[in-house]
Amino acid sequence: MLRSFLILCIAALPLAAQTSNTDANDPDALWKELQGANLVYQGGTISWNDLRQQRAATDVEDGQHPPVAILSCADSRVPPELIFKRDLAKIFVVRDAGNVASNYDLASLEYAVSKGWTRLIIVMGHSRCGAVEAALAGDDNKLTPSLVELTQRIRESFGSNWATPPSLEDATKRNARASAAWLPAHSALIRNAVRSGRVKILAAYYNLGSGAVEEVR
Ligand SMILES: [Zn+2]
Repeated sequence: MLRSFLILCIAALPLAAQTSNTDANDPDALWKELQGANLVYQGGTISWNDLRQQRAATDVEDGQHPPVAILSCADSRVPPELIFKRDLAKIFVVRDAGNVASNYDLASLEYAVSKGWTRLIIVMGHSRCGAVEAALAGDDNKLTPSLVELTQRIRESFGSNWATPPSLEDATKRNARASAAWLPAHSALIRNAVRSGRVKILAAYYNLGSGAVEEVR
């Protein structure tokens, strides 16, 4: 009840009031702003009226400085720009099935970090993820070599010390956490950015039904 009330109240706020005071250099403030925008999305009332002006503003040299990068699943039900109600040029999105970083995904995120825009990287898994489900099923002989590579990578995140398989939600959260840890472990550039405090990486979980995004710790 309280949650519904909050969603309605925040959905009624003008967007400017939700974004004007955010320090784009502060990862925690950025995450807070995204959470506020996600509440608006949960309320189901988002719309964009000025896309023509936004396009014109981006069609210039050096036309993007997104402070947030997101590695999310390619699933059609998980659109980061909608989930966080972001205007054009506000988030740098990398997507693939299972939100695990390939070398090209890592290169994409390194590009964003090297440009100096990025303050926050979010690795976002979601409920009913087919890629994690396939990894849990372990039926790799029905998959293509590329899919086997993907499911094996996801499976590594489950850990080896479970007597019974984790639930799909638990497995998805473990995978998001592992993917988030994989980035600095495999990129000196990202590792240095995190160590210096310039960039924060967090794992998150998106619920298809409610539209809510929660941090995975
Ligand atoms: Zn998925």
